[in-house]
Amino acid sequence: MKYLYIFPHPDDESFGPVAAMYQQLEQGHEVHLLTLTRGGATKQRHKLGVSVEQMGEIRYKEMLAVKETVGFTSMKVLDLPDSGLKEMDPREIEAVIQQHIEQLRPDIVVSYPVHGISGFHDHLVMHAVIKRLYLQMKDEGASYLKRLAFFTLKDEEGPAVHTMGIRLKQTMPSEVDCALSLREQDIEVLKKALNCYETYQETIEEIGVVEKIGNTVYFEIWGEKHNPPLNDLAAKLATDPNSAGKPGRGAEDLRQSTRQTQKQKAK
Ligand SMILES: [Zn+2]
Repeated sequence: MKYLYIFPHPDDESFGPVAAMYQQLEQGHEVHLLTLTRGGATKQRHKLGVSVEQMGEIRYKEMLAVKETVGFTSMKVLDLPDSGLKEMDPREIEAVIQQHIEQLRPDIVVSYPVHGISGFHDHLVMHAVIKRLYLQMKDEGASYLKRLAFFTLKDEEGPAVHTMGIRLKQTMPSEVDCALSLREQDIEVLKKALNCYETYQETIEEIGVVEKIGNTVYFEIWGEKHNPPLNDLAAKLATDPNSAGKPGRGAEDLRQSTRQTQKQKAK
């Protein structure tokens, strides 16, 4: 199975599903990461007294260390404007993501849910763009795409959770479709990945990332309802035997071959 995680910023993966990504790698899956920006606009750069470009370079190096640590199958970091995705024509963002998806042909795409967790505008734009693009690509025959999932935090229905002055958005338990239990070694990798972000150690402490993730990583799955939630993001995938391993077939080809199969059955 091939997973493609797409996030706007360096560190979104490590403040997020990285422990699940590691587990999926260990299960023998391919796990790819695409990041849309180099994250140079972070406030952190003022503390360090560096420019947006220099900060982007620092964070890129930190990400390379994460890639080494976790062992992603591939990682690509684009250079779209950090904190500026809402100023872009969404079709331009879609075009670069589409190119990457067409190259990789992932089975499962993972990104942010509609609330974006932190609510950062780049996160919200990310969700809107990937959902529309995923559906369009499916319509146009990209039958390798089997599932669109969104990394999230589960709402424990307690008091609102604030972190660094931001109220975190969470997903109601009834809307969680996959709850992936982490092993000791997955949590160790989460800690190691976070350690790679040397310029962020204070923030990581302050947010309490390791504690917030705990021992379960949660996902919503688009267009599917799983109650109780799946414990594996690749479980219960609708498999399309007509499309397996046959590249470049359009929706029309698929419909035709389905009709042919039906005819053959009728004979
Ligand atoms: Zn982010």
